[in-house]
Amino acid sequence: MPVENLEFKTEINQLLNLMIHSLYSHKEIFLRELLSNASDAIDKARYESLVNSEAITDTGDWKIKITADKDAKTLTISDNGIGMTKEEVISELGTIAHSGTLEFMRTLKEKGDINLIGQFGVGFYSSFMVADKVTVVTKSVKSETAVKWESEAKGTFTVDDIEKETRGTDVILHIKDDDKQYLNHWEVSSIVRKYSDYIEYPIVMDVEREEDSALDKGKKVKLIKEETLNSQKAIWLKDKAEITEEQYNEFYKHVSHDFADPLSVIHFKAEGTSEFTALLYIPSQVPMDIFYEQFKIGPVLYVKRVQIMDHCEELLPKYLRFIKGVIDSSDLPLNVSREILQNNPHVSVINKNVTKKVLDTLSDMKLKDLEKYKKFYKELGKVLKEGVHFDFQRREAVADLLLFRSTKTGKEGYTTFKEYVEQMREGQEEIYYITAASYEEALQSPHLESFNDKGYEVLMMLDEVDDIIFGYFEYKGKRMKSVIKGSVDLDKKDEQEKKEEGHKYEKLIARITSRLKDDIKEVRLSGRLKQSPCCLVSDEGAIDPAMERMLRSMGKEVPKNLRILELNPSHPLIEALGAAIEKDDQGADESLDMLYEQALMIDGNKPKDPAAFAKKISELMLESLNLKKSS
Ligand code: ADP
Ligand code: MG
Repeated sequence: MPVENLEFKTEINQLLNLMIHSLYSHKEIFLRELLSNASDAIDKARYESLVNSEAITDTGDWKIKITADKDAKTLTISDNGIGMTKEEVISELGTIAHSGTLEFMRTLKEKGDINLIGQFGVGFYSSFMVADKVTVVTKSVKSETAVKWESEAKGTFTVDDIEKETRGTDVILHIKDDDKQYLNHWEVSSIVRKYSDYIEYPIVMDVEREEDSALDKGKKVKLIKEETLNSQKAIWLKDKAEITEEQYNEFYKHVSHDFADPLSVIHFKAEGTSEFTALLYIPSQVPMDIFYEQFKIGPVLYVKRVQIMDHCEELLPKYLRFIKGVIDSSDLPLNVSREILQNNPHVSVINKNVTKKVLDTLSDMKLKDLEKYKKFYKELGKVLKEGVHFDFQRREAVADLLLFRSTKTGKEGYTTFKEYVEQMREGQEEIYYITAASYEEALQSPHLESFNDKGYEVLMMLDEVDDIIFGYFEYKGKRMKSVIKGSVDLDKKDEQEKKEEGHKYEKLIARITSRLKDDIKEVRLSGRLKQSPCCLVSDEGAIDPAMERMLRSMGKEVPKNLRILELNPSHPLIEALGAAIEKDDQGADESLDMLYEQALMIDGNKPKDPAAFAKKISELMLESLNLKKSS
């Protein structure tokens, strides 16, 4: 086969240009990326040796070797991992654009931070920051022949057949003149310790050492010795006391693909019915895609230090999907499949243990470091609270971790279910809440008027999903009650009084009912209004209006939900309208329409007929100005 000359995919070319011409800091991370690839390749070979043992027999000698040749100015990173076939080399190193390429370039331009490269699946190309030519020689476990890939990053790369005895990959960097420090042993060794210490395979390098000569006493001789640069111990198996914060953080970035430091580390070993070690992290920022279907859930699963699965979703409940890290089990079989995971008793023990540990950690943080907890909550509370809905056994434990604003906390303050219940008023049996799009919107809602007037605290539920989560929740035996649904009777008016009011407004109610029969379900007198003339409410079990709007905006079909129009019997406008209808004043009908339009708007909707509504307002304004003039 002749040498093939191939072109890089456009995005990769752009990336390479950026890499070569505009990045001057943090260049050393190229080594981290290449070592991470080598380690991934060995992981795969090791896994292959377990499930398909004939293919690989040299187990037990996994190793990554770094060789610096100062004369040739090359730095070579060799591994005995899985290797690549010719097809793989072509696609992986040049022709498939990893989905993250463009996104990475954008981030790079914005933040100028090359550090993130590994998270976008293009780490290999960082080698061109320090090399003007890169040669890859690789032999796959699947192939008898080896391939050589080579490029100077000038738009093309070549692929050719080559001899290579052993399985694995050599990445040979032809180091640029300006970057010769990367050929020094101490430089390489310090970069390895900084970024790649936890890699579980030995990263070795030949080092020249002077030693006393055995033959000639008093004389020194130069010896080449292979030295292991990394401590290699899986970080989660080390003693906590041995691990620095920096190492914890570096490992977090490695497993999470996050670029910020984590908020908290949870590191523990469980013994007993199930033996496992967990090193888990609470991130400091909400991952962008956490609400997407394709978000990868679960920590990395190791069995006796062998990586088995990138994301094992059976190990944690979905509402804790923000937790990143590793779990290393001593009890699971090495060849676990998804089916085994779903029914394995060890898996459920781990899940239970880890869930408890995470919830306890959060609870502890809330108690001891509220500021930190608030930071967590602001980013991830929205995910955590799904647990109230989904984790029946622990719903109160999760609920105790939630923070709410209420009509009494102010915008910056918060309350909890526990405090709310402790401060409930005499005779209050339900936990009142209002759903709204924002704190301000909630605060101005007419639905709160009576509650405020009588001093009842109302929790604010400001996420669209809240009504679904809390609608049927009971905290310590107290039911949740949405103040915008069902009827409210805080005045506890007696029957006589109600009867009189009903009688007084009988005609008005009948007139509105017939006029708006297509738009509303019912008209009734309200027990929740103080200052406002009217408002719309839903039936007790109906879908929350905020939720309804969200579903519609997502293009989902939601059955039309007719609302209830409530009138404030003590409001002068309602009284005046009642009197007008009583007198059979035909002109009052227009005002009835406007009343409804108002109610719609306060509820966050557009008026039914905005143009007519605006016109009517103008007329009323003019009338009132003329009145003022003439008086
Ligand atoms: P990522 O590691 O995130 O996939 P990289 O750009 O670092 O992205 O590497 C691209 C791909 O090239 C890898 O996914 C892998 O398939 C292949 N590759 C790189 N280095 C090696 C190696 N040493 N051995 C085997 N395959 C490798
Ligand atoms: Mg990589």
